[in-house]
Amino acid sequence: MGDGKYPIYILGPCAAESREQVMETAKQICDLRFNTSDFRFVFRAGAWKPRTSPYSFKGAGEEGLKWLQEVKATFGVPVATEVALPDHVRLAIEAGMDYLWLGARTSANPIAVEAMAEAIDRYTGGSTAAPKAILIKNPVNADAQLWLGNIERLEKTGVPVIAVHRGCGHKPCWNMAHTIRLARPDIPMLLDPSHMSGDAAQVPALLEKVAELDLDGAMIEVHCHPEAALSDNAQQLTPTRLRDALDPLLSRLCLASLICPSDDQKELNWFRAEIDELDDRLWGTIAARMEVSRRIGEWKKAHGVAPLQPERYQQIVERLRGTNYGLPEDFILKIWELIHEQSLRVQEV
Ligand code: PEP
Ligand code: MN
Repeated sequence: MGDGKYPIYILGPCAAESREQVMETAKQICDLRFNTSDFRFVFRAGAWKPRTSPYSFKGAGEEGLKWLQEVKATFGVPVATEVALPDHVRLAIEAGMDYLWLGARTSANPIAVEAMAEAIDRYTGGSTAAPKAILIKNPVNADAQLWLGNIERLEKTGVPVIAVHRGCGHKPCWNMAHTIRLARPDIPMLLDPSHMSGDAAQVPALLEKVAELDLDGAMIEVHCHPEAALSDNAQQLTPTRLRDALDPLLSRLCLASLICPSDDQKELNWFRAEIDELDDRLWGTIAARMEVSRRIGEWKKAHGVAPLQPERYQQIVERLRGTNYGLPEDFILKIWELIHEQSLRVQEV
């Protein structure tokens, strides 16, 4: 890639931490041998890291851009970094970054995205220094319309835009991604399985979605020593683990290009991804409910109250009868009975 061909793989550490870490990670990725002979990638590293705690590593800043320039010069691979302020845009463009991305936190703020679009416009000005594309991650909250609006804000710059589905709070948001896919089939979409799961072990399975949903590539965090990473250490793969995770996908895509899975099949796969996401949330919610129930059980024991309280039972049934989820009442009550039964079991132990 690097010449607009898809799929695109954007690989590299969460953060540029030191010259050695950046160069060593890039070298190890370049040295990998994949099933496909013409494997190409873009090297990523964040120079400025938006962190939750003010005491966490914030990135190496401008210095990090120098290491990315060195990667580009030494290994001949295009490079990418995150920009979160208009001044980052200026510095990244001046440093010859090939791809820029706006992170999930920036994407949550339309005024910030607007300011970034203006900066991109100002510092590229149709010059040859313009990046090949701007990537926009989904916002931290599952707001498809905001993601869509941000794509449009960035499109005004004239630089090609690529959407990146990174999920919300370490969970995929297939419904949001599907909405974008249907509204803008012309905008390439990458998967970010690293931030989507927060867990290196889940990356290989998530990568299968690139083929199933006909996505345009992936952005994956790779670090030469993930255990010592200064940010996102649980989700970064070693280069060897990356190869093991990516090889099955590359073989599958190679096969897919021969047998051409139908659009209907892809559509069904999208719906199934949405169902899996909703099931995960459903079971997660039921498990959370049981945990509260268990704590209530302890309270009842401490206060000499029996697990089954007919008055409370009736109150919940009445409340459920008044709810309107567009579901038949007998269906809601049947499920509630099962939940209640399990809840009593939890309280009786
Ligand atoms: C990143 O790619 O390192 C990053 C900060 O991602 P996100 O904005 O998706 O959290
Ligand atoms: Mn990260």
